[in-house]
Amino acid sequence: KTKDAANSRDLASLAYQHTLFSMVPQSEVQSDGPCIYVEGKGVHVTDHEGRQLLDMMSSTSRANSLGYGNEEIARAMYEQALRMHYSGTTRFLSEPTVTLAAKIAELAPGRLSKVCFVSGGSEATETALKLARQYQQNTGKPRAFKVISRWNAYHGSTLGALSVTDWLNVRDIPDPRAVGHSFVANPMRYRNPYGMSEEDYADHCASHLERQIQFEGPDLVAAFIAEPIMQANGVQIPTKSYLQKVREICTRYGVLLVIDEVITGFGRTGNWFASEHFGIEPDIMTMAKAMSAGYAPLGAVMTRDEIADALPVFRHVHTFSGHAVACAAANAVIAIKEREGLIPRAAKIGAEFGANLAEAVAHLPIVGDVRGLGLWHAVDFTRDKQTRAVFTDDTVKAVVRRMRDLGVVVSAIGSALEIAPPLIVGKEHLDRTVAVCAQAITEVA
Ligand code: PLP
Repeated sequence: KTKDAANSRDLASLAYQHTLFSMVPQSEVQSDGPCIYVEGKGVHVTDHEGRQLLDMMSSTSRANSLGYGNEEIARAMYEQALRMHYSGTTRFLSEPTVTLAAKIAELAPGRLSKVCFVSGGSEATETALKLARQYQQNTGKPRAFKVISRWNAYHGSTLGALSVTDWLNVRDIPDPRAVGHSFVANPMRYRNPYGMSEEDYADHCASHLERQIQFEGPDLVAAFIAEPIMQANGVQIPTKSYLQKVREICTRYGVLLVIDEVITGFGRTGNWFASEHFGIEPDIMTMAKAMSAGYAPLGAVMTRDEIADALPVFRHVHTFSGHAVACAAANAVIAIKEREGLIPRAAKIGAEFGANLAEAVAHLPIVGDVRGLGLWHAVDFTRDKQTRAVFTDDTVKAVVRRMRDLGVVVSAIGSALEIAPPLIVGKEHLDRTVAVCAQAITEVA
């Protein structure tokens, strides 16, 4: 025991000395300490101090969709590493890369058929934007370089992805215009700024996109990028009509619709891809995270034949694109999700969980809205149920911290608390989360 304690202190002090912590204030690292996960099985992790936690965030990034310690995935990666770990790039493919692309083409909505692999979500955004611009250059809109995005969007941390991101925490540079861009309204349902009805505000947001394309100049706009369900401020599910109108507007102006499924793809919302809920076909679609369930860094960009075929050459390359071991992991992940029926299960148990959560917390004085889809849920907090005003202090973080003290890991996201468990989560874990959430809110409020 003494040895374990010394070991955990060593790890923490090594982390302090040599880690450039990102996205967390130094003061918070000092007060809460680093959290080092040393072991995991299923939906539980053990940290360096020996605490067992129920991970209801799929490893903080929402990527770990099949839980920890999955032997089938580990074995697939091991066997691929021994057989052919890495084939290089461009024309040099590996077997799992080819079979994975074919499988994703089968699962993806509409006519999306061609796949370009990358190593994560930000790279996927970069690749999608370049693909859109190169397509436009080759097909009658040679000057189109601009990309329109939305308020509160998150598409990644690299410079191109950051240009279409409106999450101020990561916008370190006042005007990171690696890509010409502007932002239009996103259809928040619980808190729209004009107090309109949901449908009217959805129409307003879609019209804003049309006006912005006209303002920027249709010949100069290459693409519009959007998450089908926005994570910012907690699982913002638009109306079906909004995304359908967006689809029509993009088609009318020859603007490519890039749908970012990095966080929603591969089952999170109870469908393989969230686009399916809204009946839309993206021109370009990005994905990462749950694709490999976090077992390897992997992402991808998809498009349809007509767009891919319009490019004499796609000018874009990353050393680790289509890495054989990462693709072997993703093939195993997809096989497990299909075989175990985990995606329809996520839709079913997610709906039950959402109803139980709402019943347990919606009446509490600081809870404004409880919403979600599949296994992705949010509790949105307010200082005043009438005005729906957000908390400007640390109330949301305090609830998350209290839940963690009670052994359940969830996340604060703006005004809301977010819950995104691995798809293998059991009913008993979901029930415990409901109870702990209600207890933490009651204690903090
Ligand atoms: N797009 C969305 C919608 C995301 O949620 C994220 C990450 O959270 C990204 C892009 C960036 O992905 P990555 O962190 O893998 O670069």
